[in-house]
Amino acid sequence: MSTFDIDRPAAGNDESPSALNEGNTHDVSRESKLSRNTDTVMRRGTPNVASEATLHAQTHSGTNSWNPAPSASGLLEHPLGAVKGKPADRSKFWFEQKTRLADSAKGLGRGGARYGRTGVLHTPHGDIRTPVFVPVATQAAMKGVLPEMMKDMGAQCLLSNAFHLFERPGENILDEAGGLARFENWDGPTFTDSGGFQVLSLGAGFKKTLAMDVTDMKSDDVIAPGRERKAFVDEDGVTFKSPLNGAEHRFSAEISMGIQHKIGADIMFAFDELTTLMNTRGYQEQSVERTFRWAKRCVTEHQRLTEARLGKPYQALYGVVQGANYEDLRRKAASQIASLDFDGVGIGGAIEKRIIGDICAWICDEMPESRPRHVLGIAAVDDIFACAENGGDTFDCVAPARCARNGAIYTRDGRYNIKRVANKRDFGPLEEGCDCYTCTHYSRAYVDHLLRAHEINGATLATIHNERFFIKLLDDIRDSIDGGYFDEFRDETLARYYAHGSKG
Ligand SMILES: [Zn+2]
Repeated sequence: MSTFDIDRPAAGNDESPSALNEGNTHDVSRESKLSRNTDTVMRRGTPNVASEATLHAQTHSGTNSWNPAPSASGLLEHPLGAVKGKPADRSKFWFEQKTRLADSAKGLGRGGARYGRTGVLHTPHGDIRTPVFVPVATQAAMKGVLPEMMKDMGAQCLLSNAFHLFERPGENILDEAGGLARFENWDGPTFTDSGGFQVLSLGAGFKKTLAMDVTDMKSDDVIAPGRERKAFVDEDGVTFKSPLNGAEHRFSAEISMGIQHKIGADIMFAFDELTTLMNTRGYQEQSVERTFRWAKRCVTEHQRLTEARLGKPYQALYGVVQGANYEDLRRKAASQIASLDFDGVGIGGAIEKRIIGDICAWICDEMPESRPRHVLGIAAVDDIFACAENGGDTFDCVAPARCARNGAIYTRDGRYNIKRVANKRDFGPLEEGCDCYTCTHYSRAYVDHLLRAHEINGATLATIHNERFFIKLLDDIRDSIDGGYFDEFRDETLARYYAHGSKG
């Protein structure tokens, strides 16, 4: 099974203190909207920068207590690490490791190492306690669920997709809005995926990007037969046709960095080439080398943009490790990424389910522990445990929301489809004992009715439950590592979840 979803989204972003100043577009409607998002009305008549800083402080800390004051230099210091007229402060981003799993005879890392750990990811827009589930708001929105509701259910951060936001509304709109987090009214850290996954998936299935030897294919085929090829890879980047309107576009390392800087997420990913398990070994080798060359260009462009775009919070850049299922290629790619000045690492690519934990361990073997690790596009409960045990810190997954819209409900006893006859008169919650808003206010029968009737609220209620399921799962994993009972928790949770043959 591939752990990747064809419609995996990428991440979001945040705001810059100078953004409202740019172009002097200080319109009343924007101020009114922003003011409603905080408890304190912006102070009219004060310089724009003070108003903006106040807003940022409130957004960042959730309180109104921070009063901006000029520093010795006369410039306003900003809690996000953004200072007007200055390049971003990189020291605002770092990973603090707390508890690490004990090594074991079954450990998949060198010498039985187990890289699973808890920690705190410090970002300009706030801290993220890890391991953590990162809900996916592909187009700067969770479908049917407001950011305030995500916050209420315990979400710490959101991930959006640079490719989708580039297509619509365009990265300049996000830049002018003050970055993705402000644009979508999200009070917290954000991620953006580089767009490489979506761009490359447009080309999958055609001779240039796919291997000839498909007889050993073990993954899902992500290519629809007969589909028009829409992406072409070359040494410099990818040319593709927009699935939205057919327009031809070009993505490269530099273009991806430019787009992601304007979107403004706290954490971005380098532009990489995604291969599938259908690619030949030879193509995988070439692809790893090409991804390394693109990674170097991403770092260079990222550093240039960080210096050039003044008054912005620091945006961290993760390098992505490809290499499919090959241990030597994964280790080589990890060493290459480790040799570059990235802030963290993304574990990507098509991965065969049975070795997903091994792949995480191989990469962690080659990577400094100070670098946070994001597992891109994970899809199943057992995969989350395998990756958390072997070093994953942050995990994004589109499955809970997409499944919810189809009526698939995650519970501790496995996944079921709510649109069953038996649920028509079941007036109990989606899951007994669940603390989510849906389960404490609505019944299975009602959610079943809404989904059958294609009422939007059905998707909202089901999504709230499923997202809460994964947020809580990662919260519980974090507690189990800190509490020293991870192994027992894993065994009990997986035995119960898969007892009835549940998939996913
Ligand atoms: Zn629930």
